[in-house]
Amino acid sequence: MRISSILAQRQTFSFEIFPPRGDLPIEQAMTIAGQMAEQHPDWISVTFSAGGSGNSAATGAIAAQIQREAHTNALAHLTCLGSTRTDVDSFVSELETNGVENVLALRGDRAPGREALDFAHANELIAHLKNMAPNLCVGAACYPEGHVEAPSLAADIEQIKAKQDSGADFLVTQLFFDNELFYRFREACVRARIKIPIVVGIMPFTSTKQIQRMAFTCGASIPAAVIKRLIAAGDDAGSQARAGIEYACEQLRDLAANGVDGLHIYSMNKPSVARATHDALVECGYLGRI
Ligand code: FAD
Repeated sequence: MRISSILAQRQTFSFEIFPPRGDLPIEQAMTIAGQMAEQHPDWISVTFSAGGSGNSAATGAIAAQIQREAHTNALAHLTCLGSTRTDVDSFVSELETNGVENVLALRGDRAPGREALDFAHANELIAHLKNMAPNLCVGAACYPEGHVEAPSLAADIEQIKAKQDSGADFLVTQLFFDNELFYRFREACVRARIKIPIVVGIMPFTSTKQIQRMAFTCGASIPAAVIKRLIAAGDDAGSQARAGIEYACEQLRDLAANGVDGLHIYSMNKPSVARATHDALVECGYLGRI
């Protein structure tokens, strides 16, 4: 089913997985996806790695199997730096053959050897996808704190508007740890006449090291409330991970109470994270009991 059709009916709940590295990526990913599907998400997204840290060739295959074997809607990520129109067209036609109706259209991070070929920015990819496959549901990324390369949040929001104008059907946010920043961003989007649904992406932090890395790679600010919890957790890896799940569940309950279009969990291939976030959202009434 097209994600835009689901978003038109209800607030959504979804997970992200990434193709594992190694020799058996599809089997591993399918075990994880099967366990996540037990929480009845509206969709499971599959990341695309053009940078060597993962297996981009597996994205389409895993998305197809999620659709076919886990009986769950799949959202295949697709980055366009370093890709030609022909690369994109063959990726999409394989998805269409396998019944995958949803793509998250991304530029990808800049890296040496990954120059713009036929596409410089996500909005160009979105326009191309809408032209070549009008029935495809196309999502795009957005950044409540502004993309790391953007000169200002206002300038970045103009580019989000360009993604909407190019045909994007919905947006998924970058992770953030301070909900107030998201609420301000949402108001700014309304002022900028961005009308497509904004699905909120939340990632439970797993350790002090991991959250520091996230802050540097995606520019997410770390509020004092998170720092205090990590100090209280001390050096114990289990306590740090538990603090991350608890904090994410509090964020999700607050977002649920504030009328978001959808909640997407960066579940880091961990079915335990999928279960914990699902249970928190059942408890607060965002999700019905099944
Ligand atoms: P763009 O929309 O092209 O934006 C990049 C920068 O250029 C921004 O600063 C923007 O303001 C500016 N800009 C945008 N359009 C224009 C324009 N027309 N002219 C001038 N400037 C412009 N990466 C992966 O490699 N694989 C993944 O699977 C993946 N999944 C992601 C999922 C989500 C929900 C998010 C939020 C990010 C994901 N990323 C992924 C990371 C993403 O590829 C990077 O953040 C990348 O640097 C930007 O991608 P974009 O699609 O937002 O690019």
